[in-house]
Amino acid sequence: MSLSIESKCLHLEKDEAVREDGKPACNHYGSVSFPIYQTATYAHPSVGNSTGFDYSRLQNPTREQLEKVVCQLEGGIDAFALSSGMAAISLMMELFYPGDHIIADSDLYGGSIRLFDNVSAKNAISFTRVNCATENLEPLIKPETKAIYIETPTNPMMNVTDIAKTARLAKKHGLLLIVDNTFMSPYFQNPLALGADIVIHSGTKYLAGHNDTLAGFIVTNRADIQERLRFLIKTTGAGLAPFDSWLVLRGIKTLPIRMEKAQENAAKIAEWLKKQKSVVRVIYPGLTEHPGHEVMKKQARGFGAMLTFQTDTTEHALSVLNHVKLIQYAESLGGVETLITYPTTQTHADVPEEIRLKNGITPATLRLSVGIENVEDLINDLSQALSY
Ligand SMILES: *Cc1c(COP(=O)(O)O)cnc(C)c1O
Repeated sequence: MSLSIESKCLHLEKDEAVREDGKPACNHYGSVSFPIYQTATYAHPSVGNSTGFDYSRLQNPTREQLEKVVCQLEGGIDAFALSSGMAAISLMMELFYPGDHIIADSDLYGGSIRLFDNVSAKNAISFTRVNCATENLEPLIKPETKAIYIETPTNPMMNVTDIAKTARLAKKHGLLLIVDNTFMSPYFQNPLALGADIVIHSGTKYLAGHNDTLAGFIVTNRADIQERLRFLIKTTGAGLAPFDSWLVLRGIKTLPIRMEKAQENAAKIAEWLKKQKSVVRVIYPGLTEHPGHEVMKKQARGFGAMLTFQTDTTEHALSVLNHVKLIQYAESLGGVETLITYPTTQTHADVPEEIRLKNGITPATLRLSVGIENVEDLINDLSQALSY
């Protein structure tokens, strides 16, 4: 029986629910909530016999259950749960060697840019950073190019890259296509099905969904990459802890209804913001005038709940941050609570100012992660915060 995505957030498909040795996945006393196996190590029944687990850095039953759920949501052959999104991206970067070259979008999560510029560069991996939504990438490919790294929509400017088209180019030149799918979550978009090789998630965001834990994921559909990553996670040791794995498992149970509600709120707020005198630009891919709207319709099942807007003056933007009451001025996104972020000094503070401005991130740019509150309450809050 093949399950719908809503059911896949709650149940494993039958063949996923058994371990490689054919034994059913841990299911004690019919517990409906998957147990938290808070253990570092596992006793062996006898020499040459194993429960299937040896040591929790390698694997833990709660983490394994979570990895299976995320794997089936993204349609991969394996998923890896890490201690944060950045831990996932850092582990993924261990697939590359000194001398390798990667084409990466110019508008990415600030932490990814920090990692690439300061850590990957030190390891002699070089990057060409361009707007992957609009540039022709083919002339940028060099003999040492190994991968294309994108987010779509991007953070925070919501540029939309055509995943299938980029995947065809990557295949033609033997490159990996890596997609950070955090903004859409597997509920709205599945890059592997569109030709990507690796999907990244900050599980801290929509997957966990409650602003209460950090987590990160790598999902792949390539056996060679799977094997390498299993070696790397066991060797470098940033696997997600059992309790945090359980929190994400619990969060995923409501992923579909959270995504639907947050998206519905975001669409209403985008329309409302467009009508405000002090708002000069609203960037939300669900708006028909958004340049990526048609591509999103083709490659995703929704437009998500992230939106960026620009006020007429910097003072107005700062005033909004100081006056919101229900909406909280905080970094992060994808949780049930609506958060407003100031990319200039928060998420993108480490991006050099000239690149920030070139990408369109001005001191009047605000990013909203719309949550699941009553939308009238959110609009009333924005209205009073914009009135100063
Ligand atoms: C937050 C985020 C990350 C980093 O994830 P952490 O869990 O904070 O380490 C990576 N990519 C995107 C798009 C993000 O929003």
